[in-house]
Amino acid sequence: MEVFEKQPLGSEVALRGWVYRVRTQKEHVFIILRDATGIIQVVVDSSSPFFSEAENVTIESSIHVKGIVKKDPRAPGGLELRATDFKTISLAEPFPITKGASREFLLDVRHLWIRSRRMNAVLKVRDEVFRSLHEFFRKKGFLEVQAPMFITAAVEGGASLFEVDYFDRKGVYLTQSSQFYLEALIFSLEKVYTVAPSFRAEKSRTRRHLTEFWHAEAEMAWYTFKELLELEEELISYIVDQVLENKRKELELLKRNVTLLENVKPPFYRISYDEALEILSKKGFQLKWGEDFGADEERALTLEFDKPVFVYGYPEKAKAFYHKNDPKRPEVTLSADLLAPEGYGEIIGGGERIENIHELLEKIKKFGLEQSQYEWYIDLRRYGSVPHSGFGLGLDRLTMWICGLDHIVDAIPFPRTIRRIYP
Ligand code: ATP
Ligand code: MG
Repeated sequence: MEVFEKQPLGSEVALRGWVYRVRTQKEHVFIILRDATGIIQVVVDSSSPFFSEAENVTIESSIHVKGIVKKDPRAPGGLELRATDFKTISLAEPFPITKGASREFLLDVRHLWIRSRRMNAVLKVRDEVFRSLHEFFRKKGFLEVQAPMFITAAVEGGASLFEVDYFDRKGVYLTQSSQFYLEALIFSLEKVYTVAPSFRAEKSRTRRHLTEFWHAEAEMAWYTFKELLELEEELISYIVDQVLENKRKELELLKRNVTLLENVKPPFYRISYDEALEILSKKGFQLKWGEDFGADEERALTLEFDKPVFVYGYPEKAKAFYHKNDPKRPEVTLSADLLAPEGYGEIIGGGERIENIHELLEKIKKFGLEQSQYEWYIDLRRYGSVPHSGFGLGLDRLTMWICGLDHIVDAIPFPRTIRRIYP
């Protein structure tokens, strides 16, 4: 109700919106009217010709109302509208969402639940996340590119590929990551990024996995591993800062502890995989060197930190084949995951890529992959290869953490998970 709030007291304004709440008390009907910007109290007197129309209005009915702006300390926001005109645009049937609805039910009626003040606030933060991400990359001189969604070779391992019925062809899948295409594009544009869905047949039913998620990926020619981490922390700090600046009201509505977000400034913590393993073993996690961390480990680990933390130097076998091995310690890679604090865990996976063709071919063989599947990718090392680095950021996970949500499905309007593909 931002328009309304800008009106001087005593002036007449026209509003359109939906009935959020309605009650009749003696001589008045009190309607809380909702629009995209917020809520406002509308009061209809019994003396007005539209009193009975207002009295009979139902929750989520759409209405037009005109009225005079008045101060009222009892009204939400301290202002109310005394109606001088009232028109029902569409009278709603009994709204199926009532207090105490279960989480599953709210997901079944997600097309209606997105009208809630809570979802409205999350979606505004999400919009700010996307907006500021684009702004950041533009300011840094990146070019936005697009990669195909139909692909033929796995980037992140075959187990989580969705195969599609592509005419009569076998071996066509939905993309898991645009990384390889971005790597090809740096030879033309040097610094590129994309924002697109990625699809993963995740069998792990965690609070942070969707089968279709929004992936921001960037790839940079000439960037060293060190420069990569600096770029990542700058990006995340920028986004969090912009949300704090422009979406404070929404964070408040979500009861987010903003002090923790205000802490998100470079430099982030940097710990090695080995150090992470040590912290975890003190917490009772018995992981063998070489194993990757799961949601539980990352949760335990990040509860220890008050701002994001990079875990770098993952063992070769814990990371995909394209990661460059550390020349100083070849059993680990120049890779890093960025973990969000407060138990949230991984939001970014990134690293320096292998630039040398022999190294790449060896790694493909070592990982038991079919060289013929990666021919065009290997080509990139044949014609003017350069050192380069890149990363992938999960925007739903980032939104989840910034909003302080306990499940990723609440960070996206229409979530897709192993069990849910409706609405
Ligand atoms: P995880 O170990 O949590 O499954 P990953 O190692 O598979 O993550 P990457 O392949 O590095 O993740 O993908 C880059 C980023 O994309 C992740 O850091 C995360 O933010 C996001 N991401 C990956 N898989 C999912 C998913 N299923 N749902 C939502 N976001 C995801
Ligand atoms: Mg995964």
